[in-house]
Amino acid sequence: MVDTVIASEGISETSPKNLQELLDRIRGFYGQGDLSLIEKAYEFSQKAHEGQIRRSGEPYFMHPVGVAGILADLRLDLDTIATGLLHDTVEDTDVTLDDIEKNFSKSVRELVDGVTKISQMKFKNTHEKQGENIRKMIVAMGKDVRVILVKLADRLHNMRTLNHMPYNKQLRIATETLDIYAPLASRLGISSVKVELEDLSFRYSKPEMFYHLVQKVAKKKKERERYIDEVKNQLASELDKRSKLKYEIQGRPKHLWSIYRKMERRNIDYEQVYDVLAFRIVVDNVPECYEVLGHVHSLWKPIPGRFKDYIAMPKVNNYQSLHTTVMGPNAERIEIQIRTQEMHLVAERGIAAHWIYKEGNQSTANGSLDKFHWLRDLVSHHQNAGSSGEFLENVKSELFESEIYVFTPTGEVKEFPEGATPIDFAYSIHTDVGNHCSGARINGRLVPLKTRMKSGDRIEIMTNDNQSPSKDWLKNCVTSKAKSKIRWHVKNEERKRALVMGEQMLEKDFRKAGYSLAKFEKSSKLNEVLRKLGANDLDDLYVRVGYGKIVAKDILIEYAPEYKESVEKPAVEENDENFLQKVYRSALNKKRKSKSIISVDGMDDVLVRFAKCCNPIPGDPIVGFISRGRGITVHRSDCERVFAMDDQREIEVAWTVDKVPEGVERTARVRVVSHDIPGLLGKMTETFATLNINIHNAQIRTTKDKKAICIFDISVRDTEQLSIAMSHLQKIQGVLGVTRVTQI
Ligand code: MN
Repeated sequence: MVDTVIASEGISETSPKNLQELLDRIRGFYGQGDLSLIEKAYEFSQKAHEGQIRRSGEPYFMHPVGVAGILADLRLDLDTIATGLLHDTVEDTDVTLDDIEKNFSKSVRELVDGVTKISQMKFKNTHEKQGENIRKMIVAMGKDVRVILVKLADRLHNMRTLNHMPYNKQLRIATETLDIYAPLASRLGISSVKVELEDLSFRYSKPEMFYHLVQKVAKKKKERERYIDEVKNQLASELDKRSKLKYEIQGRPKHLWSIYRKMERRNIDYEQVYDVLAFRIVVDNVPECYEVLGHVHSLWKPIPGRFKDYIAMPKVNNYQSLHTTVMGPNAERIEIQIRTQEMHLVAERGIAAHWIYKEGNQSTANGSLDKFHWLRDLVSHHQNAGSSGEFLENVKSELFESEIYVFTPTGEVKEFPEGATPIDFAYSIHTDVGNHCSGARINGRLVPLKTRMKSGDRIEIMTNDNQSPSKDWLKNCVTSKAKSKIRWHVKNEERKRALVMGEQMLEKDFRKAGYSLAKFEKSSKLNEVLRKLGANDLDDLYVRVGYGKIVAKDILIEYAPEYKESVEKPAVEENDENFLQKVYRSALNKKRKSKSIISVDGMDDVLVRFAKCCNPIPGDPIVGFISRGRGITVHRSDCERVFAMDDQREIEVAWTVDKVPEGVERTARVRVVSHDIPGLLGKMTETFATLNINIHNAQIRTTKDKKAICIFDISVRDTEQLSIAMSHLQKIQGVLGVTRVTQI
């Protein structure tokens, strides 16, 4: 922030009265270039706004002309100035964005569109955190920084003509300007606009204080002017004496808002604000800045702790200068800023200076590249800009793309990470709103909950007591708050279902083994069994069974001594079961580390294994069977084995992923029959390689009738990838047939 600035300059306080005056202003820096774009935009806008009158009684058209005048004073490019002329046509007249593009260009259309969007936003509370969010929202909506420059010029012209508004509107607009637009101008380093916005806002938001200060300042005008001359003379004779320096000295009171802020901060009267005057010395280069500083300090005693070297350490908005406060003539404190011409330009025009360099002085265009790193520092999002073209791209679109800003129905602004959905929004309001969120409207339109919100959207959440979070929501939200709340809820629901399923499974298995679960529940041994198996209570036991972590056999061994004896007999079948149990446990441990790609009856924390007979891969229709001690086995629905299975054990399973995730392997077997031609195998393996498919195993044999049969076991992500691979193989010359082998 440029905290102490001398009142603005460079921007004329009057608007151009007609096209010729506007063109003259542009000519001032643009030279003899083609200005037909401006002429055309002027006429177009004049026609569009024809008959519209401002509150002041002036034709409405004078407003866009005023805005264009300010943009011309900032020496912006022609597209931006044309946008100043056109900025209200889409919002306030019959003109459409298509008309703008047809008559002008796509880039002018985008600029006008950006300004219109910002104009349509209504803010409720603009203070503090809200103000910060709104500023970021405006930048995010603007995309192209020039949109914000037009918006600032628009606001500046509206502030200049605010006296025609009713008092309550003046107050609201002035407050909004102080909260939002002046800080925005400051962040963008445009102190000329910032200073004028602040003093105009001051005038309308605290009129009594403003005019009180105006009087105080006016009263001492003569005295002050004499003093300023005195300082200038002493400085000049000192500087002239010591060297052949080219310099320029300016001196004036600081702007009223900054004086008022100082009074407020220190709780003092105007008379006690002694450093009201600020002086500026502008020289040609950096060494001269330090040289002049030496002269100043030898002339007047510096106040300790007030010297600041913003040349060696520029501010984040790229402001550079030397600041010092000294005991001037009559022992009065005066502040002196020392800077080069170029620094002065940047201080006055900030980001806008970038376009000045572009149009005017080509040699400094590259030099300005580094200087605008602050624009990216402005946001927490860092991008490496390699070339100046890339830099412009960053300025245009990457500013706040990692964050979005949306409205609540009451007009508050909320910040979210990019990609956030109404689910995130609902949870940000309240956990209950999230948990019962049944639908959403964006800008009044009903949308799916997974819709990504955009900056400027107005979000409304509908709730229903019967609604509860589903697992799918996790894929459709990005904030950690929403995710953790959903996860907690889903876990809880899964636990409930695991409990019911565990009890059913036990019931069945107990009966098969000749025991009664009901009796077990009432048994005096219950607590001992629970303790031995590490379960907290009966419910916990069932949940563990439901998740496949404990099986009926584990319980029966602890519960019934005679059962234990029967299973401990060294029977072949039981050994086999023990072995399988080991496999099961190790698989369970492995599984805990990786995410399950199968959900069982809606739960994904259940032990599953894929049947070796049919090797399902994502995309295949599947069915699951509960197998004792082995969790759930997943088959392809059309697997031959499925028809021999006990319906009682069938359970619904589903893929939780479209593709096999990284790090998990699913193998499919493919059989290729071809002519036995040399080089064909190479072509086949090359096909897999280009598709990034690993071959685990390949068997090749030839037949008597000069055919080759190749069997490939390949790792695929889903059926789609498999069918692509198969169709590629099919196209190889010499290949007769490609089939997937499902029964192995
Ligand atoms: Mn406007």
